This record gives sequence, structure tokens and C-alpha cells, in this order.
Amino acid sequence: VDRGVTLSEALLKHDKWLENKGIKNTNFAVVTWSNWDCRVMLESECRYKKICKPPYFNHWINLKVPFREVFGGVRCNLKEAVELAGLDWQGRAHCGLDDARNTARLLALLMHRGFKFSITNSLMWQSADPLLAWNQAPGHLSAPPYYPQKPKDLHISQFQFNHPYCFCGVKSTKGIVRKPGPKQGAVFFGCGNWTLATGARCHYFEWVTP
Ligand SMILES: [Zn+2]
Repeated sequence: VDRGVTLSEALLKHDKWLENKGIKNTNFAVVTWSNWDCRVMLESECRYKKICKPPYFNHWINLKVPFREVFGGVRCNLKEAVELAGLDWQGRAHCGLDDARNTARLLALLMHRGFKFSITNSLMWQSADPLLAWNQAPGHLSAPPYYPQKPKDLHISQFQFNHPYCFCGVKSTKGIVRKPGPKQGAVFFGCGNWTLATGARCHYFEWVTP
């Protein structure tokens, strides 16, 4: 950890890695063990350090959920889960990298069993601070949004803006609030399968404009 990089550097490197692997513009999901990492830790750390967090961390698969579906409602920690699944624990428990590797091995095992994964949790945050809001509107690449006081450690322009996917796994649709009120005219992304007749097929929702 002492020789590690800062969080913003790590997020940038990770983003680049996703891009180089051809994953970034596909329908992919972050997989964690428990909701702590995405719901609490990364979110609060990024807010505290005013780091712009990529939107793909706003929804995730908590592997505990599929694990319980496959192995019964058993409550256990990651190490116990890995061993219960018949795998050997590799490395040191609670070491970030080793936890991640073992989570990935458990994920692979469940995938081999044919388990169909879907998003289990998401942050439905609406940032009141436009500096912290990812602008995901397509076409904004050439015209970055205007940030009056851009702090030095903000990396908004360094991430590519994606059109987000909804939880159905299709490109979300962009909507505008027509109802009179304080949010009138605000732009949002919603379920890509939304139709006037059926409504939304999933609960995906994210403000484009703060
Ligand atoms: Zn949807």
C-alpha cells in the first residue's frame, strides 16, 4: 500500500484497463462481496476527495446474493464461502487484491454452474454538486460541460463519457421532466425498455443534469 498509487490514479488506470480490454463499452458489471465497497467505501472516499467516480461503480452484483441462491441461505464471510464452494482460499484474507482474486474465482465457479447474474444493488444518488456528477450525455465528448471552478484533482475530462445501460442490459433512454416544478426541464436516463404502454421494465434511473 505504501508504494501504491492514489485513488484517482487507480480509478484512471482501471478505466484505461477496461478500455484496453474492450470491456468499457460493453454491458459489464462490477462484482463485489457485500455492498460495502460500492455503497459506502468508494462512494464516500470519492466524495471526500472530490474524485469523479466512473458511473459503472453505481450498480454492482453483490456475489452474496447469487451465492445464497446456489448454496442455500447460508450466512458466511468470503473466505468461508470460497471454501464452502470447494475452492482453496488463496492469499491473505482482507488483503484487497487477494479478496478480489478469490471473489473472481467464486464468480467463475458460479458462472460455470450456469448461474444467470443480474445487478443486485445500485446507488440512486443524485449529486447536488455538479462538480461530482458524471455527465453521461452522448455527444458531450467534444463539448465538455462547463465547470466554473475546477479543482486540480478532478478528472472529469479524462474519463470517456458513456451512454449508460439500464439494469435490463440495454442502452438507457434519455428523458426530460415535463411536470411543472423545481425539476422541470431536468434530463435523466431511465430504463431502455420503457414504453408508454408498459412503463419501465427496471428501476434504473440517473439524473443527467443535477
Ligand atoms: Zn431497463
